[in-house]
Amino acid sequence: MAAPAFEPHCIFCKIIAGEIPAAKLLETDLAVAFLDINPVNPGHALLVPKTHHSTLAELPDPYAAHLGELLPRLCRAVVAATRAEGFNLVVNNGRAAGQTVDHGHWHIIPRLRGDSVHWPWPHGRGYADDELAQLQARIQSALGA
Ligand code: 5GP
Ligand code: ZN
Repeated sequence: MAAPAFEPHCIFCKIIAGEIPAAKLLETDLAVAFLDINPVNPGHALLVPKTHHSTLAELPDPYAAHLGELLPRLCRAVVAATRAEGFNLVVNNGRAAGQTVDHGHWHIIPRLRGDSVHWPWPHGRGYADDELAQLQARIQSALGA
């Protein structure tokens, strides 16, 4: 079943509908960007498709293409306005990945050297035996499905 365009219990749907306020940065027919209410760093922005899709993986191609096109411009503006030295682009998908608002969205987080953000995450030591090849084959197979 297709995702509903508007989910009445979704905080981002309510922002998009104008039911609750947000500090909007840009708006197009398909997308809106606004400041995160609890920023990791000042200027932390969210880019959100205007229809309700729970994660990035459910986003229809036209939305994905449009949001992808908007991202570099939005990132440049956030960096310029905050005088950041860098930025992280983060998408949390699912509770296990830290998603708290189930309306897929991009975080644009301006970064300064020595700020209090803990990044990067810990990396593993590599793969054992033929695990890498097996995962490669399984993902390739899923891509073709
Ligand atoms: P997630 O954890 O789902 O990846 O990110 C959700 C983000 O939405 C959080 O960073 C949180 O601070 C932000 N957020 C939650 N509620 C509101 C709200 O009502 N307004 C705004 N502007 N941001 C919100
Ligand atoms: Zn929503």
